[in-house]
Amino acid sequence: MTQENVEQQFRDPLNLPVPDRRVQTLRVGFRDGEIKSIRNLTHDTYEIIVKLEDDRRLGEAGQFWTLRVPGIRKPRPYSFARAPESEAPGEHTFFIRLVPGGELSEWLAGEDRTGEKVTLSGPLGKFGLDPSMQDMVCIAGGSGMSAVYSVIEHAANIQVPRNCHFFYGARAQRDLYLEEEIEALKERWHPDYTLEFVQVLNEEPEDSDWDGGRGFVTDYFKENYLDTGKMDIDQIKAYFCGPPPMIDAGIAVLKEAGLSDANIYYDKFEDARSPLPVIDNTKCVLCDECLMVKPVSNCIVEVAQLSPTNGSEPGTMEFERIEPASTAGLYYNTLYINEAECIRCYACVEICPAKAISPQFEPTPKTLARVVS
Ligand SMILES: Cc1cc2nc3c(=O)[nH]c(=O)nc-3n(C[C@H](O)[C@H](O)[C@H](O)COP(=O)(O)OP(=O)(O)OC[C@H]3O[C@@H](n4cnc5c(N)ncnc54)[C@H](O)[C@@H]3O)c2cc1C
Ligand code: SF4
Ligand code: SF4
Repeated sequence: MTQENVEQQFRDPLNLPVPDRRVQTLRVGFRDGEIKSIRNLTHDTYEIIVKLEDDRRLGEAGQFWTLRVPGIRKPRPYSFARAPESEAPGEHTFFIRLVPGGELSEWLAGEDRTGEKVTLSGPLGKFGLDPSMQDMVCIAGGSGMSAVYSVIEHAANIQVPRNCHFFYGARAQRDLYLEEEIEALKERWHPDYTLEFVQVLNEEPEDSDWDGGRGFVTDYFKENYLDTGKMDIDQIKAYFCGPPPMIDAGIAVLKEAGLSDANIYYDKFEDARSPLPVIDNTKCVLCDECLMVKPVSNCIVEVAQLSPTNGSEPGTMEFERIEPASTAGLYYNTLYINEAECIRCYACVEICPAKAISPQFEPTPKTLARVVS
């Protein structure tokens, strides 16, 4: 019996999906390094290169790491901005956009951070190049350029025999970057196929010299490529990366045009405003997978007792944590996501084979251990 058959035999009675091997075999590691260089890509977007002490090449184009910097308690997730095979040994490049009032991005922009000690955890996420031969439609907004650029750089490196149409949405001309690098990728794309790059601006003054696309990038794509029949929806795979509203709008456009979920890949840049994932312990099968991918040590904890926190948000809890000492494994059958530590990377949501974790669940925990009311 093959390994897959054995797995299927054990999973069938519970009707569990077969895990995605690409994710399932990854274990998140924590690695120390320092910021080797920082440069401005635009007025508010920075390229940083982190050099790790460990020279191994880790992760795949499209995945992300979390970055922890000195003096800021929580790390933040950032996508690979280069194909891993294009990086120098031990180096990892990220594009980070300044968020006004943002703790980490303002720290980065505040002064020259070259040489600062940082920690990466990962690699995480399953966004990346699929093995099909269909045309790629990539749509990115803002710093979502990072993950898409890493995927198309990888596609150029391995000479994928596919056409690629890359639509990049920004506010105005001063927000555009990486044009020369993408021109260079066009030159070394598979010779029988093409890489098209289309920039679309939604806040560029009407009277400016801009003669490229205008409006929201997803609307532009719909009006100029789908509605005109320029693109055959049955022949594409879509890749979205950037702010959640842009991705939701893009997915709606493509699904309305007839593209199925299976042909849509995306990496939503969730942030502190995104909803907290909740674990339904009545669905949890204690497989430990979420504990293996969590990028923060205390974001998911095993608890013996939960009690509602007096006077704060409905659904928030105080918990009595179980420390498993030197043993591994789950004993009390109740896992809880600690709002104070969770960085909304959704790695646990993606990996859970029992679909027991979702940001859509009721915030009041469904638990097998004691809940004190
Ligand atoms: C999988 C993944 C990959 C990511 N990759 C990248 C990347 O490659 N490059 C990148 O720049 N970011 C990326 N992000 C977003 C990033 O992790 C941080 O959320 C972002 O840098 C803000 O962090 P901060 O510490 O500066 O702000 P925080 O201190 O976390 O937030 C400060 C305040 O600003 C709000 N806020 C946060 N982000 C935004 C925003 N975009 N617009 C408006 N308000 C906001 C928050 O809700 C909060 O109120 C990614 C996120 C995820 C989940
Ligand atoms: S609880 Fe889940 S979403 Fe939150 S930081 Fe941990 S793995 Fe990421
Ligand atoms: S919540 Fe999901 S991933 Fe975590 S232990 Fe339970 S079944 Fe496994």
